[in-house]
Amino acid sequence: MPGAGRRRALNERPLFFDLTPEDLTQRMLTWGEPAYRGRQLWRGVYRQLAETPELITNLPHNLQRRFSEAFSFYSMEVKKTVRSADNNTQKVVLGLTDSHSIESVFMRYERRRTACISTQVGCALGCVFCATGRMGLVRDLTAGEIVEQVMYFTRRLAQDGERLTNIVIMGMGEPFLNYQATMQAIDTLNDPDGFNFGARRFTISTIGITPKIECFTQERRQINLAVSLHAATNELRQQMLPINRRYPLESLIPACRNYVEQTGRRITFEWALIRQVNDGLDQAEALVNLIQGLNCHVNLIPLNPTDGYPGEATSQQQVDNFYHYLNTRKIQCTIRVRRGININAGCGQLATE
Ligand code: SF4
Repeated sequence: MPGAGRRRALNERPLFFDLTPEDLTQRMLTWGEPAYRGRQLWRGVYRQLAETPELITNLPHNLQRRFSEAFSFYSMEVKKTVRSADNNTQKVVLGLTDSHSIESVFMRYERRRTACISTQVGCALGCVFCATGRMGLVRDLTAGEIVEQVMYFTRRLAQDGERLTNIVIMGMGEPFLNYQATMQAIDTLNDPDGFNFGARRFTISTIGITPKIECFTQERRQINLAVSLHAATNELRQQMLPINRRYPLESLIPACRNYVEQTGRRITFEWALIRQVNDGLDQAEALVNLIQGLNCHVNLIPLNPTDGYPGEATSQQQVDNFYHYLNTRKIQCTIRVRRGININAGCGQLATE
């Protein structure tokens, strides 16, 4: 990734990762070049992981140069990399061309190689326990900036002969409030003629933007959907997640049920367990009543601490009690391993200055 001066110059050109295959075809038409030249560039970048057109050897030299002059192939600068003690979790701070920054996380767990990527700089929704929410919304990322985070981790892994296995769209921001760019990024990464990352290996996580869940349902994508529930009564949920006032459980849960019915896919509910806030068996009981009969999975994750929120993670004993309550009532659930907490790379901990 280039230095700031060069990035400023590159910024004047469209970012390659923002293009769709149709955009490239159109550009070839304008240039009087055959459409397959655009596809060669597309495959060179997304399959061979070429960082510049000059590295795509089946392109003629004059076209390599023309592509380089027409598009920028970078927009981000790595400002900082923080690694967990076991090196299995890495958080990178990526500087954008307008001097804002985002954070993205890479996690290695058994055979999984997962990138957790951001869709916005900051977030408008202000969930009480979330460091990103405390930043407020600065701006949406473009589709290209979302794609570039994945390309960054992919290229780094390729140097060690490894590949990404999963992409989770759970970093900074609410992806369903940057819907179009997020879907374009997924389409780019999913394209069989390019990066070819299987739809089922994406997970998109939303706080519960009901109309967008309905939209997503209509699209019939094979992508995994996770909804951050965190509370099973409106009273508690809106204390934790202000968006619940706009989209209360009466609208959210039917949208989730409809998603499962229409797509035949299982839905995941995320539940950050916070000591004496939402870890009581009264909430577990309300949760069972809410999702009974729904093809779903509940991920229980003890809260990751953040500055500015006094809540603490639930004790292991209470995590087990909560889990046991759900489990004995035939609700599929998992206690998620907390990763990257010490480097502030866990869920809800991402934030930049
Ligand atoms: S938890 Fe998600 S939706 Fe809530 S403030 Fe944080 S980034 Fe935004």
